[in-house]
Amino acid sequence: MKISSESALSQMMKEWRHHLHAHPETAFEEIATSDFVASRLEEMGLNVSRNIAKTGVVATLSTGDGPSIALRADMDALNMDEHTNVAHRSTHAGKMHGCGHDGHMSMLLGAAQYLSEHKNFKGTVHFIFQPAEENEGGGRVMVEEGLFDKFPAQAVFGMHNWPEMPAGTMAMKAGPLMAACDTIELKVMGKGGHGAMPHLGIDPVVISAEIILALQTISSRVFNPQDAVVVSVTQVNGGHTWNVIPEEVVMRGTVRSFRPEVREQLEGTIRRIVDGVCAAHGATCDLKYMSGYPATINDEEQTQICAKAASRVVGTDKVDLNPIASMGAEDFAYMLQAKPGCYVWLGTGGIPGGCLLHNPGFDFNDDVLHIGASYWIALVEEILGS
Ligand SMILES: [Zn+2]
Ligand SMILES: [Zn+2]
Repeated sequence: MKISSESALSQMMKEWRHHLHAHPETAFEEIATSDFVASRLEEMGLNVSRNIAKTGVVATLSTGDGPSIALRADMDALNMDEHTNVAHRSTHAGKMHGCGHDGHMSMLLGAAQYLSEHKNFKGTVHFIFQPAEENEGGGRVMVEEGLFDKFPAQAVFGMHNWPEMPAGTMAMKAGPLMAACDTIELKVMGKGGHGAMPHLGIDPVVISAEIILALQTISSRVFNPQDAVVVSVTQVNGGHTWNVIPEEVVMRGTVRSFRPEVREQLEGTIRRIVDGVCAAHGATCDLKYMSGYPATINDEEQTQICAKAASRVVGTDKVDLNPIASMGAEDFAYMLQAKPGCYVWLGTGGIPGGCLLHNPGFDFNDDVLHIGASYWIALVEEILGS
């Protein structure tokens, strides 16, 4: 462990984390957050670039000739009310660091502090503080704005706290670790009428029910069962009263997958089923298929390097090299499309009263701040160590 849990730096990370937690800001509005992060990095003597993808920050620490790598933390909070009693709870109504990005920022700041003091590597480290991970794709915007042209890196690395794993453990694997996330919006248009005389209309409610069930055959009957696919209809809106068949029903949902080859076929498959069911009943439909984050796919070689770094910090027996991938999505995927790299999970669970991500009772586990920061340092030493 590079940083002990008792060290002054651990204490500092905790203070940073509590400050950030108390002042959450959401996608592309991380103005005070961005300024806080950039100011700390400037105090450390790093070369700091602000306002990348609106509120993003990149700080560069170079010790001369050598390879260049990038480490990324996300900065945004969620639009939700916090229900904790901690002293550092959110002071911004309706906003909360419910995904632990406050901890991610603090750990990367901690690593920057340590590395700027020790400079025990040869090369360049770019510390990326990315806005808008939740839904808004700040990672994509950063890449599109030329992140890796301005800050060339041979590889890029990310980390997320993972309350489902015990504190003091880490997990990673080559290939997909998080899913691709697409969304659907579907309008089924029938013919409204009297609820007692359904034969005189075309009932979009019954047709929608059939569509919802038919979509479930995609994961069970269309794709190889080894290829995980989720199609969830999560919202159904239609009708206003008991005895009127509505004109239309609007449904929304999410579509998850891992392999790009599978994802490419999903829109066409959904369209075929929806069009077919509607046609069978004389209804029409309008399907909007919106592609979201791609799958987060780790590079084989970089994953091995991360595994070595993680083993040095928590011990080989505490590093899971074959975790079950999550159907959740993560916009670090865009950075991994641009550069080889690896995204890892840092176990934070097992504390009394601990909650899962996006739960109103969630609070990042301070006991792992020094572990996450130590991992970043070990990773820099592993790749750039002199
Ligand atoms: Zn989240
Ligand atoms: Zn998150």
